[in-house]
Amino acid sequence: MTMYDVVVIGGGPGGYVTAIRAAQKGFKTALIEKGELGGTCLNTGCIPSKAMLEHASIIRKIESVKDWGIFCEVEKLEYGKMQKRRASIIQNLRNGVQMLLSKGKIDLIRGEAQVVGEHEIIVKKSEKSETVQSKRIVIATGSTPSVPPIPGLMDIAYDTTDTIFESNEVPASLTIIGGGVIGVEMAEIFSALGTKVTIIEVAPRILMLEDQEISKALQRKLAKRGIQFHIGHSVERCEHVDEMFRVHLANDAVIESARLLVATGRKANLEVVQNLALPVEGGKLQVNDQFATAIPSIFAIGDVVGRMPLAHVASAEGLALVDTWLGKENNLDYKKIPRCVYTLDQVASVGYTEEQLKEEHIAYRGETYSFAGNGKAMTKDQTDGFVKIFVDTQYGEVLGVTMFGPDVTEIIGYPTAVMQLEGTIEELADITVAHPSITEVIDEVANKYLNQGIHS
Ligand SMILES: Cc1cc2nc3c(=O)[nH]c(=O)nc-3n(C[C@H](O)[C@H](O)[C@H](O)COP(=O)(O)OP(=O)(O)OC[C@H]3O[C@@H](n4cnc5c(N)ncnc54)[C@H](O)[C@@H]3O)c2cc1C
Repeated sequence: MTMYDVVVIGGGPGGYVTAIRAAQKGFKTALIEKGELGGTCLNTGCIPSKAMLEHASIIRKIESVKDWGIFCEVEKLEYGKMQKRRASIIQNLRNGVQMLLSKGKIDLIRGEAQVVGEHEIIVKKSEKSETVQSKRIVIATGSTPSVPPIPGLMDIAYDTTDTIFESNEVPASLTIIGGGVIGVEMAEIFSALGTKVTIIEVAPRILMLEDQEISKALQRKLAKRGIQFHIGHSVERCEHVDEMFRVHLANDAVIESARLLVATGRKANLEVVQNLALPVEGGKLQVNDQFATAIPSIFAIGDVVGRMPLAHVASAEGLALVDTWLGKENNLDYKKIPRCVYTLDQVASVGYTEEQLKEEHIAYRGETYSFAGNGKAMTKDQTDGFVKIFVDTQYGEVLGVTMFGPDVTEIIGYPTAVMQLEGTIEELADITVAHPSITEVIDEVANKYLNQGIHS
């Protein structure tokens, strides 16, 4: 039996990237996947949602350009064709992952893995089981939708993000339980397709983990597009009556809709290590700074650890893990990794939010500037929004950047690079950015902070 150097369990953005890097560095590597390559990200998460958001964006654009002198309308929506486009993007990317694995000479083992010892895994296949041995085992099994124990919910055919796109028609109405990143992105998609969307959020605001001002501004924009909100209300029970879902809130309101999407977070896939009694906290597998679990030959990365449940974090953790095997330090700094919300008015942040700086009593000063005077934003008719930068008052290091506005998910890499290099606000202000561009607002905020803003 082959003794691998590395066996990775899970072919999502954490697992397949770890396997490729390990193989590049000379480790004899195998990857075990029970479902489709690409994991949640590629199959039911990042990619399908962004494909559908692209459709939403075009629909909204067509609706808005009359005022620009362009008269056109959405004649007809063929949902089946949109779904085909979504599926073909996914298939292309899956094929790409498979090709990269074979190029890296990584053994792909199809089946459900169960770790049974420090170096031993049993892989259940449809008819037989196979034992795989490895010096190092990486758990990259990700997460699945977490559904709260709401009375009545288990008896009805609600949707999660695993199923919401698997239907032939656009629902006339949709209730979304959960106003986090996934909930608001789904609301944006279906609202543009013509669905009457209602979001229920028990917390005092949507996007609780992001800047408060942004969450309010985004809610206003979504409300303008017809999305209804019940914020600060908990769900008492759900039922399905006369082909309609009914959600009963604690304040006695009842929301009725054709479909019900539960988007209340995700839970780590821990079944893979259920025989090992590894420490788990808050439902997540515990690892040390080198991503090792309590068993030194077993490591874990990505959503199953859940330090920052994002695709690029899962990949970055995998790369950092392989580095530690090569004797390098794990330098991954979660405060220098961007977070994005891909609604039509986008949110992009890196580092501390103002709320976190206050909570952690870090001495900071912030500066902000809006998109209202930005030429590029005007050409797009998207001048709502702003950029906030938070700076450490002692050394002037940039601690956090938060943006709300057009295409900000595409430009967050620029302040991230400055932060990665521990850059100061002076260094950020010194960079010459292109004109006209959305990035000019970042430049303006940095200069405004230094009392030398040209336009502010
Ligand atoms: C709707 C939605 C939108 C999202 N959008 C974004 C976004 O825009 N940007 C972003 O960064 N993140 C986004 N995410 C989050 C992102 O998808 C996850 O953070 C990311 O996929 C985690 O990667 P992972 O490799 O840890 O796990 P996963 O991608 O979940 O992959 C785990 C893999 O392990 C396999 N597996 C599990 N158990 C076993 C077993 N026992 N044996 C063999 N295989 C097993 C699974 O089949 C799966 O393929 C989104 C998520 C959702 C649901």
